Amino acid sequence: RICQRYRECRDDIDTLTPCFLSVYESLIPVEEEKAKQNKLLQLLQKSINKEWPNAQLHLYGSCANTFGFSNSDVDICLAIDDSNMSRNEMLLKLAEILQSDNLQNVQALTNARVPIVKMMDPKTGISCDICINNLFAVVNTKLLKDYAQIDDRLHQLAFIVKHWARSRAINATYQGTLSSYAYVLMCIHFLQLRKPAILPCLQEMEATYVLAVDDTECAYFDQVEKLKNFGAQNKEGIAQLLWAFFHHWAYHHDYTSDVISVRTGSIISKQLKDWTRRIGNDRHLICIEDPFETSHDLGRIVDKHSIKILREEFERAADILQYDPNPSVTLFEPY
Ligand code: ATP
Ligand code: MG
Repeated sequence: RICQRYRECRDDIDTLTPCFLSVYESLIPVEEEKAKQNKLLQLLQKSINKEWPNAQLHLYGSCANTFGFSNSDVDICLAIDDSNMSRNEMLLKLAEILQSDNLQNVQALTNARVPIVKMMDPKTGISCDICINNLFAVVNTKLLKDYAQIDDRLHQLAFIVKHWARSRAINATYQGTLSSYAYVLMCIHFLQLRKPAILPCLQEMEATYVLAVDDTECAYFDQVEKLKNFGAQNKEGIAQLLWAFFHHWAYHHDYTSDVISVRTGSIISKQLKDWTRRIGNDRHLICIEDPFETSHDLGRIVDKHSIKILREEFERAADILQYDPNPSVTLFEPY
């Protein structure tokens, strides 16, 4: 492994960029998809306001952070201030409202880590998860969306990495692999560390957006239209970046001591976070700090078995980008 760590990228890497760009383009959802989602959101808003006039629905997750594929589910957050009801009572009530509005497969999952109501709209076939008052999700969705507007290469990299992770069956937290949200944070962090940097660290800049969620102040620079040229000094194309991304996670990342942190735009130490040993089910074998809930390691679901699978997949991907004659096909071969 040592000799592989320092090897150089293949000479023809830039000739692979057009192929990866066409993979990227094939993954972008069509406009009608968005229109359908917004229509459904309006319908739901109406039916919920009959019961709760002041309640607001917000889209979050991939249909709002711009990192969604065509077939992504719709994640919705119900923001409501009703001190007479517990969250579980609200979830059950919400399920009742949706059921009486003829939505299908309505299910309240009150015991999940993030309790939600699941349902499907029979008219559009769209599946939705609705959570209640989860404002962290709304804020981190905005952060991802804002980063995406700074440099197109983030979008390209994250779509391809998400597509790769799905094809290789390593995008399922219930199986001990990583969420889409974690992969996008890995991409942002990677681009923050390029030399010259392709993305800034918005949370280290002057705060132009501030929202208090519970006891946490979420603050960062959100005037991203002023940062359009931020990465212009760096001329790397998507093929080169993919090579370097997989190479980093296969051969350079220090799994025993490093935590990646989009919040600081740097690597911080596991020691500092006290993430050095297993506590309960949290193993911290790959550490990805949540940008706002900083005590939250998005890698904590990864166990001894799945870390091995993940690292083998990073190595497979790095080697394909290094040697394969047709990496834009081989990379995505189903597991
Ligand atoms: P997909 O296209 O796969 O549905 P997604 O962007 O919706 O991708 P998910 O991983 O399904 O990503 O997460 C949806 C949203 O939920 C994220 O954008 C984030 O706001 C929030 N979220 C997910 N996992 C976590 C987590 N572990 N901690 C905090 N927020 C999370
Ligand atoms: Mg989602």
